[in-house]
Amino acid sequence: MNIMKFDIPGIEDLDVNGKKILLRVDFNVPLSKDGSTITDETRITASLPTIQHLLNRGASLIIVSHMGRPKGKDDKSLSLQIVADRLQTHLKDAKVHFSPEAIGSEAEKHAAALAKGDVLVLENIRFYEEETAKDKKVREDFAKKITKMADIYVDDAFGAAHRAHASIVEFAEQLPAYAGFLLKKEIDVIQKILNAPERPFVAIIGGSKVSSKIAVLENLITKVDTILIGGAMAYTFLKARGLETGTSLVEPDFFTAAHQILEKADYHKCKILLPEDHVTASEFSEKGKIKKTTDKNIPDGFMGMDIGPKSIDSYTKAIKDAKTVLWNGPMGVFEMDSFAQGTVEVAKAMAKVKGTTVVGGGDSVFAAAKAGVTDKMTHVSTGGGATLEFLEGKELPGVKILDKKK
Ligand code: AMP
Repeated sequence: MNIMKFDIPGIEDLDVNGKKILLRVDFNVPLSKDGSTITDETRITASLPTIQHLLNRGASLIIVSHMGRPKGKDDKSLSLQIVADRLQTHLKDAKVHFSPEAIGSEAEKHAAALAKGDVLVLENIRFYEEETAKDKKVREDFAKKITKMADIYVDDAFGAAHRAHASIVEFAEQLPAYAGFLLKKEIDVIQKILNAPERPFVAIIGGSKVSSKIAVLENLITKVDTILIGGAMAYTFLKARGLETGTSLVEPDFFTAAHQILEKADYHKCKILLPEDHVTASEFSEKGKIKKTTDKNIPDGFMGMDIGPKSIDSYTKAIKDAKTVLWNGPMGVFEMDSFAQGTVEVAKAMAKVKGTTVVGGGDSVFAAAKAGVTDKMTHVSTGGGATLEFLEGKELPGVKILDKKK
């Protein structure tokens, strides 16, 4: 069993007055097709508490982020100028400057001229291939060109914490290093539910592929009381048990792994619930024939698209009795309304739980929003890959280094 116990230093009581803070955030926001507007600013607003706190206490900020995957090239369609402009609209009392270079004389000039309460946003850190270089020495030399502009490093980029990149690991190595509020909350909440949950602890795991969730299931089996499995990944489990799955998405290479998960769950006294019935369709759309099954089997020529009413009933009952609920992955193709009911009902049941409820990043965040219950959850994780790796019990490089430095 993998027990993570990180107690990373936060910024609550940190004296930052007159200091230049190098702040790593995850401002990897989605843009409209023509690149002219930010379509969802959640990632910007999520780090505002950290930014405001540091500015209110007399710091100036040098903000570093990545956006998209420019692969080490200067791709102006992924410039952070648009993010700097948006940030300015949130920070009425601060002047937000932008440096079109993250390193070099212009960035250094801007940084040196920063007054208390000012902000400098550096250009997309992934315009530099050194940021993601495999060679640590390359990352170290690159990091030095930026850390020399600052006194303290604060990491608030949970979404990038699973990456051993220069702005995550080497920045922290080269300066006194702390976690921003967002990063700290993510780590504290997820660690708490994995290490000392109130029970019963129910995990809801769905999504398209069992292959991408095997490691999460393996880890959760040792920690939770019940796992509710939905989404396409359920069909691999059902098929592995000899049931008919029609044309549903199944991964035959993972039949053995599915069996092993079920056996291991038995050993750890973790109950696994699989769908008892399904909403099926003749094609992957709402346009073909749609049929509800009465049992676990799916007829020839049909594919499973959502969990059925009996499954919704037993899943929501299990959730109702829980004191801790963790959700990662939709129960069906929730993007299409005809197949969203399972996901929406599970989300609504979770919203009523009087305990700790955590939505584990990625698609489940959109699904919770579709069900209109985001505000009812204890915590909605901002990470995709980072959340998944954390739930798998992996040590995230961005967290490990902060813990080591304390
Ligand atoms: P993941 O990224 O693995 O969490 O998977 C999320 C995706 O799984 C969503 O886009 C869903 O539409 C998809 N999904 C959920 N249930 C099914 C299903 N029964 N068949 C195909 N795709 C599904």
